[in-house]
Amino acid sequence: MTSQAAPQTLISGSLVIAGRAVAGAAADEVTDPATGTVIGIAPVSSDEQVDDAVQSAAQAFGPWAALPATKRSAHLTAIASWIRQHAADLATTLTLEQGKPRSEAVGEVDAAAKAFDYYAAEAVRVRGETIPTGSPTLRSVAIRQPMGVAAAIGTWNYPLGIMAWKIAPALAAGCTVVAKPAEQTPLTVLAVVAGAADAGLPPGVLNSVSGTGAEAGARLASHPLVRKISFTGGTATGRRLLHMAADDIKSVTLELGGHSPMIVLADAPMDLAVADAVKRSFRNAGQLCNSVNRVFVQRSVAEQFTERVTERAAKLTLGHGLADPEPNLGPLTTADGLARVEAHVADARARGAQIRTGGSRATDGELAGGLFYQPTVVVGDGELLMAREETFGPVVPVIVVEDADEAVARANSLDAGLVSYLYTRDLRSATLLSERLEFGTVNVNNVGGGDVPFPYAGWKHSGLGIELSRAGMEEYLRVKHIRTELGYQ
Ligand code: NAD
Repeated sequence: MTSQAAPQTLISGSLVIAGRAVAGAAADEVTDPATGTVIGIAPVSSDEQVDDAVQSAAQAFGPWAALPATKRSAHLTAIASWIRQHAADLATTLTLEQGKPRSEAVGEVDAAAKAFDYYAAEAVRVRGETIPTGSPTLRSVAIRQPMGVAAAIGTWNYPLGIMAWKIAPALAAGCTVVAKPAEQTPLTVLAVVAGAADAGLPPGVLNSVSGTGAEAGARLASHPLVRKISFTGGTATGRRLLHMAADDIKSVTLELGGHSPMIVLADAPMDLAVADAVKRSFRNAGQLCNSVNRVFVQRSVAEQFTERVTERAAKLTLGHGLADPEPNLGPLTTADGLARVEAHVADARARGAQIRTGGSRATDGELAGGLFYQPTVVVGDGELLMAREETFGPVVPVIVVEDADEAVARANSLDAGLVSYLYTRDLRSATLLSERLEFGTVNVNNVGGGDVPFPYAGWKHSGLGIELSRAGMEEYLRVKHIRTELGYQ
């Protein structure tokens, strides 16, 4: 592994308020989770700066909403171009602050650009409807108008991708935005917000604030001029935001924690199931809302499936995301996250589960300075903590089931309802089982992730509303009914 030193100069971020780059009221260090070294300095917004950002978004709202959709669309396309022009630097910053391998960071930056392109196209398709009335002189139309100032609050596992999934549809709909990235990974998002200003976005249309959730986040979400909160993060925070929004009847879209089951039936295409289980359990060191969190495998194929997944997991490489050759997995992003993984594995051991591979931190050589954990495969039962709570790390429990009915009942038994995976060659039973799975996404024989053309919705405690797709833009629009009587003298 090539050693990765900290960057020569620290990466510094600034806020954008009313189109101007502004220093924070304070500053915070950003650390590379692979080495523990400081790689950047991020601004921390004061309460006044949060209020200024919201005020500037509120002032910009009228003109932005009134701008012809074709012009708003062109601004989104310009942001996509800016992201692509700066993709290499953005991807490096993303790996340094979040830890993921560089090729995955490049993919995330590209996904962000694609989100702006997609919603540039949708911006010109905001449509209303004409409703027939009971009178020849009465006209009735329903139009859609933007909600106002949107607060976009993101998390750290896909900081840029997730933020683009909020900013792009909000701007397309005609809302103005105040974006707050996660405090662990603020730099890539702050760079793109600054880039949008460079790309010609009118002042105030897109602003950034930064700092902790309890301070900058709560101040932003509770501001009376914010009419829409779009949030991705943990379920506990989502619940808190929903309470906060209730006081002021704000519109809320929530993308929260998941606990994705993968069901592998006896007739599954086994090579694919094994490869996909490895891909979706360990990608981004398991820090995915749609990570495979529990596998329910039918007894007759359970041992061959587990052996093959174990063999592959044991071969995955760990290292700095910028190393050459590139590792399969980077570190966990936060020390708290690493502690949770350790606690879940300790619980599995205490309950007598088999740890087939992994089961401890990875501390060899250069890994010693980072938050690395070995890819871990566990065989146990549904009582394991990791089979009930989101581990958010490179750990997957395999649980043997007797049949499809048992698998579906167990899959549905938790409050999480984000994504599920189903492997079988019987597409008739797949269709019927999919309809019974209580999840916003069911992937049959694939582990495709969130992608901009497709609706992404958390069911049950995994969320509220829809992100991505055309429906994701409608979350920022409200309906107005205009009824006109023409038959007057
Ligand atoms: P978190 O809830 O702690 O933080 C997310 C964001 O909310 C951060 O920007 C944080 O500063 C802010 N925040 C925290 N408290 C706040 C408050 N009181 N008011 C306003 N803002 C506040 O997130 P986390 O637990 O670190 O993130 C991981 C979780 O995110 C996992 O559960 C994961 O499954 C989930 N996630 C979901 C999706 C999805 O699309 N459903 C995608 C990625 C991650």
